[in-house]
Amino acid sequence: ELDPRIKEVKDLIEFCPDFPKPGIVFQNLFPVLRNPKVFQGLIDVLVEDIKSKHPDVDVIIGLDSRGFLFGPLIALALNVAFVPVRKKGKLPGETHKVEYSLEYGKDSCEIQKNSIQPGQKVIIIDDLLATGGTMKAACDLMEAAEAKILSCMVVIELKFLDGAKKLKYPLLSYIS
Ligand code: AMP
Repeated sequence: ELDPRIKEVKDLIEFCPDFPKPGIVFQNLFPVLRNPKVFQGLIDVLVEDIKSKHPDVDVIIGLDSRGFLFGPLIALALNVAFVPVRKKGKLPGETHKVEYSLEYGKDSCEIQKNSIQPGQKVIIIDDLLATGGTMKAACDLMEAAEAKILSCMVVIELKFLDGAKKLKYPLLSYIS
Protein backbone atom coordinates (compact mmCIF):
# COMPACT_ATOMS: atom_id res chain seq x y z
CA GLU A 1 0.00 0.00 0.00
CA LEU A 2 0.88 3.66 -0.14
CA ASP A 3 3.94 4.80 1.87
CA PRO A 4 2.66 7.37 4.41
CA ARG A 5 5.28 9.81 3.13
CA ILE A 6 3.80 9.55 -0.39
CA LYS A 7 0.29 9.96 1.04
CA GLU A 8 1.45 13.28 2.52
CA VAL A 9 2.79 14.35 -0.89
CA LYS A 10 -0.46 13.34 -2.58
CA ASP A 11 -2.49 15.44 -0.15
CA LEU A 12 -0.46 18.56 -1.04
CA ILE A 13 -0.78 18.33 -4.85
CA GLU A 14 -2.78 21.21 -6.24
CA PHE A 15 -5.10 20.39 -9.18
CA CYS A 16 -5.48 23.30 -11.61
CA PRO A 17 -8.22 22.71 -14.22
CA ASP A 18 -7.79 24.29 -17.66
CA PHE A 19 -4.17 25.28 -17.05
CA PRO A 20 -2.08 26.06 -19.05
CA LYS A 21 -4.84 25.52 -21.61
CA PRO A 22 -8.43 24.26 -21.76
CA GLY A 23 -8.84 20.54 -21.03
CA ILE A 24 -5.55 20.10 -19.16
CA VAL A 25 -5.64 19.52 -15.41
CA PHE A 26 -2.25 20.77 -14.29
CA GLN A 27 -0.88 19.01 -11.20
CA ASN A 28 1.20 21.46 -9.20
CA LEU A 29 3.84 19.93 -6.91
CA PHE A 30 5.20 23.26 -5.63
CA PRO A 31 3.15 23.13 -2.40
CA VAL A 32 5.24 20.06 -1.51
CA LEU A 33 8.42 22.17 -1.74
CA ARG A 34 6.92 24.66 0.70
CA ASN A 35 6.73 21.90 3.32
CA PRO A 36 10.25 20.73 4.21
CA LYS A 37 9.09 17.65 6.14
CA VAL A 38 6.95 16.36 3.26
CA PHE A 39 9.55 17.34 0.64
CA GLN A 40 12.27 15.51 2.60
CA GLY A 41 9.96 12.49 2.94
CA LEU A 42 9.47 12.40 -0.85
CA ILE A 43 13.20 12.65 -1.57
CA ASP A 44 13.87 9.92 1.02
CA VAL A 45 11.38 7.56 -0.66
CA LEU A 46 12.90 8.15 -4.12
CA VAL A 47 16.45 7.68 -2.80
CA GLU A 48 15.55 4.51 -0.86
CA ASP A 49 13.87 3.07 -3.95
CA ILE A 50 16.96 3.71 -6.10
CA LYS A 51 19.26 2.30 -3.40
CA SER A 52 17.26 -0.93 -3.29
CA LYS A 53 16.57 -1.37 -7.02
CA HIS A 54 19.53 0.29 -8.73
CA PRO A 55 22.48 0.61 -6.31
CA ASP A 56 24.79 0.66 -9.34
CA VAL A 57 23.47 3.97 -10.76
CA ASP A 58 26.20 6.37 -11.95
CA VAL A 59 24.24 9.45 -13.05
CA ILE A 60 20.87 11.02 -12.27
CA ILE A 61 19.48 12.74 -15.37
CA GLY A 62 16.99 15.56 -14.66
CA LEU A 63 14.49 16.83 -17.26
CA ASP A 64 13.89 20.52 -17.94
CA SER A 65 12.54 21.99 -15.80
CA ARG A 66 10.83 20.33 -12.88
CA GLY A 67 13.17 17.35 -13.00
CA PHE A 68 15.72 19.90 -11.75
CA LEU A 69 13.80 20.26 -8.47
CA PHE A 70 14.28 16.63 -7.50
CA GLY A 71 17.25 15.30 -9.48
CA PRO A 72 20.12 17.16 -7.77
CA LEU A 73 18.81 16.34 -4.27
CA ILE A 74 18.59 12.65 -5.16
CA ALA A 75 22.03 12.68 -6.80
CA LEU A 76 23.61 14.29 -3.71
CA ALA A 77 21.95 11.80 -1.38
CA LEU A 78 23.32 8.94 -3.51
CA ASN A 79 26.70 10.65 -3.96
CA VAL A 80 26.48 10.37 -7.76
CA ALA A 81 26.54 12.88 -10.63
CA PHE A 82 23.60 15.01 -11.73
CA VAL A 83 23.26 15.95 -15.41
CA PRO A 84 20.50 18.12 -16.92
CA VAL A 85 18.64 17.52 -20.18
CA ARG A 86 17.61 20.96 -21.43
CA LYS A 87 15.26 22.43 -24.00
CA LYS A 88 17.02 23.48 -27.18
CA GLY A 89 19.48 26.36 -27.25
CA LYS A 90 20.34 26.44 -23.55
CA LEU A 91 23.51 24.36 -23.40
CA PRO A 92 26.93 25.52 -24.69
CA GLY A 93 29.37 23.40 -26.64
CA GLU A 94 28.72 20.13 -28.43
CA THR A 95 25.39 18.48 -27.72
CA HIS A 96 23.32 15.46 -28.62
CA LYS A 97 19.94 16.67 -29.80
CA VAL A 98 16.57 14.92 -30.22
CA GLU A 99 13.42 16.34 -31.79
CA TYR A 100 10.00 15.24 -30.56
CA SER A 101 6.48 16.15 -31.54
CA LEU A 102 4.05 18.02 -29.33
CA GLU A 103 0.32 18.40 -29.75
CA TYR A 104 1.08 21.30 -32.09
CA GLY A 105 4.48 21.31 -33.77
CA LYS A 106 7.85 20.12 -32.52
CA ASP A 107 10.28 20.70 -29.69
CA SER A 108 13.75 19.43 -29.02
CA CYS A 109 15.96 18.67 -26.08
CA GLU A 110 19.71 18.44 -25.67
CA ILE A 111 22.46 17.09 -23.46
CA GLN A 112 26.11 18.14 -23.46
CA LYS A 113 28.24 15.47 -25.12
CA ASN A 114 30.97 15.77 -22.47
CA SER A 115 28.51 15.36 -19.57
CA ILE A 116 28.04 11.63 -19.94
CA GLN A 117 30.33 8.72 -20.87
CA PRO A 118 29.35 5.67 -22.95
CA GLY A 119 28.31 2.81 -20.68
CA GLN A 120 27.35 4.96 -17.69
CA LYS A 121 24.24 3.75 -15.90
CA VAL A 122 21.56 6.41 -15.60
CA ILE A 123 18.14 7.04 -14.08
CA ILE A 124 16.04 9.76 -15.73
CA ILE A 125 13.82 11.83 -13.46
CA ASP A 126 10.92 14.21 -14.08
CA ASP A 127 8.00 15.40 -11.97
CA LEU A 128 5.21 13.91 -14.06
CA LEU A 129 4.61 11.51 -16.96
CA ALA A 130 1.69 12.46 -19.22
CA THR A 131 1.85 11.26 -22.87
CA GLY A 132 5.43 10.09 -22.29
CA GLY A 133 6.76 12.13 -25.22
CA THR A 134 9.22 14.08 -23.09
CA MET A 135 10.57 11.00 -21.30
CA LYS A 136 10.81 9.08 -24.60
CA ALA A 137 12.89 11.93 -26.09
CA ALA A 138 15.20 11.82 -23.05
CA CYS A 139 15.60 8.05 -23.52
CA ASP A 140 16.52 8.64 -27.17
CA LEU A 141 19.13 11.17 -26.02
CA MET A 142 20.61 8.62 -23.61
CA GLU A 143 20.80 6.11 -26.44
CA ALA A 144 22.59 8.69 -28.60
CA ALA A 145 25.06 9.15 -25.74
CA GLU A 146 25.38 5.34 -25.39
CA ALA A 147 24.34 5.51 -21.74
CA LYS A 148 22.58 2.54 -20.13
CA ILE A 149 19.12 3.43 -18.81
CA LEU A 150 18.34 1.56 -15.58
CA SER A 151 14.94 3.17 -15.11
CA CYS A 152 12.79 6.21 -15.74
CA MET A 153 11.36 7.87 -12.62
CA VAL A 154 8.48 10.29 -12.07
CA VAL A 155 6.60 11.38 -8.96
CA ILE A 156 3.23 11.39 -10.76
CA GLU A 157 2.08 9.12 -13.62
CA LEU A 158 -1.13 10.00 -15.50
CA LYS A 159 -1.96 6.33 -16.15
CA PHE A 160 -4.98 7.02 -18.37
CA LEU A 161 -2.63 8.48 -21.02
CA ASP A 162 -0.64 5.21 -21.25
CA GLY A 163 2.66 7.11 -21.51
CA ALA A 164 4.63 4.21 -20.00
CA LYS A 165 3.87 2.19 -23.16
CA LYS A 166 6.05 4.59 -25.18
CA LEU A 167 9.08 3.68 -23.05
CA LYS A 168 11.36 0.70 -23.62
CA TYR A 169 12.59 0.91 -20.04
CA PRO A 170 11.05 0.34 -16.60
CA LEU A 171 9.14 3.25 -15.08
CA LEU A 172 9.11 3.97 -11.35
CA SER A 173 6.14 6.15 -10.34
CA TYR A 174 4.63 6.90 -6.94
CA ILE A 175 1.32 8.69 -7.44
CA SER A 176 -1.29 8.11 -10.13
P1 AMP B 1 4.49 14.39 -21.64
O1 AMP B 1 5.65 14.61 -22.55
O2 AMP B 1 3.17 14.50 -22.34
O3 AMP B 1 4.62 13.09 -20.87
O4 AMP B 1 4.48 15.58 -20.60
C1 AMP B 1 5.34 15.55 -19.51
C2 AMP B 1 5.95 16.90 -19.23
O5 AMP B 1 4.98 17.94 -19.27
C3 AMP B 1 6.55 16.90 -17.85
O6 AMP B 1 7.77 17.61 -17.91
C4 AMP B 1 5.52 17.61 -16.99
O7 AMP B 1 6.14 18.50 -16.10
C5 AMP B 1 4.63 18.37 -17.96
N1 AMP B 1 3.20 18.06 -17.79
C6 AMP B 1 2.39 17.44 -18.68
N2 AMP B 1 1.14 17.34 -18.23
C7 AMP B 1 1.13 17.89 -17.00
C8 AMP B 1 0.11 18.07 -15.97
N3 AMP B 1 -1.14 17.63 -16.15
N4 AMP B 1 0.48 18.66 -14.83
C9 AMP B 1 1.76 19.08 -14.64
N5 AMP B 1 2.73 18.94 -15.54
C10 AMP B 1 2.44 18.35 -16.72
